[in-house]
Amino acid sequence: MIIKSIEVIPYAIDYKKPLKFASGMVNVADHVLLKLVTEDGVVGYADTPPRPYTYGETQGSIVSVIETLFAPKLVGLKLTDAERIREVLHKTIGNDAAKGAIDIAIWDALGKTLELPVHQLLGGYANSLKVSHMLGFDEPAVVLDEALSMREQYGINAFKVKVGRSPAKLDLAICKALRDGLGDSADIYVDANRGWTANEALAALPALMDAGISTFEEPCDAKDAMGRRELVKKSLIPIVGDESVPTPGDVSRELLSGGCTAISIKTARGGFSNATRVLDLCEGLGVEVMIGNQIDTQIGTAASLAFGAAKKATTKKAAELSNFLDMADDLVAEPLTIANGEMRVSALPGVGVEIDLEKLERYRLR
Ligand SMILES: [Mg+2]
Repeated sequence: MIIKSIEVIPYAIDYKKPLKFASGMVNVADHVLLKLVTEDGVVGYADTPPRPYTYGETQGSIVSVIETLFAPKLVGLKLTDAERIREVLHKTIGNDAAKGAIDIAIWDALGKTLELPVHQLLGGYANSLKVSHMLGFDEPAVVLDEALSMREQYGINAFKVKVGRSPAKLDLAICKALRDGLGDSADIYVDANRGWTANEALAALPALMDAGISTFEEPCDAKDAMGRRELVKKSLIPIVGDESVPTPGDVSRELLSGGCTAISIKTARGGFSNATRVLDLCEGLGVEVMIGNQIDTQIGTAASLAFGAAKKATTKKAAELSNFLDMADDLVAEPLTIANGEMRVSALPGVGVEIDLEKLERYRLR
């Protein structure tokens, strides 16, 4: 149960198809795999996605903060020293993806030590989650084709559409094409990744409502406090906080000051422990939540699945679990599968994936 070592392994795997959105583009998974070993020889893994355009972390900064600040203070602690581990991590501000990887690797090692799936340790509510697929910028017909093929191949019927471009009609045409092509049964919702101003987002609302959009994520920068609050007051669709609310403190501030009315929870951001705090806060305030995707690999997706299926509140809406389908390869020994629009939790001890060590050798950068 005692942490013996924490190793960080930067690696790179290409995407077959880049994902384009208002705040950036991803064409390579330049992530960091975190490997935690206990004195009993148990190995916990977690994946860390750097998103510099959203949170400021890079592959190099994740390696550095873990190697220089976190690992030296965590070695020697027990996996169950949760509050002491939290104290170490909290002495450094930000760096939520690096902190998330440490937390998830600790849970993975704890599950493997106890020979139990982490999904059970976290709550064990459901055995599967409905899957939502994310659609990046492209021509309306191309985006609709992708959605139809996801429905045909995987049974997925929930779609997040990236919006936030100027002119907004580029994105509104996609929303309309998707509703016309997918019909009323599909859950279609949008994420502007702060690409619009509050006024642009307000102007887009009628067309979004006409297309039956269910939620509107990060319409504009949450720091544009006045405009954002005006937008939230006028919107009949829930306004979802995502990158503006990585911590429970941010969630409190944005919800209580009227900056958003629903919350996207990401396990890559602070791990299971932070996600649990955010979820409990949202439940206490009576706020709707969803499981988001930090453009995760299968290792990260398995973590989102383990958490989302464990808790009742996160099983209501479809969870964003399919971004890995666009990657050329992955580090897992057994690929995750989506069938009938759902992903089932793993019965393996820990978070539920095994690492293919040969692939890790192939893709590691050092
Ligand atoms: Mg988002």
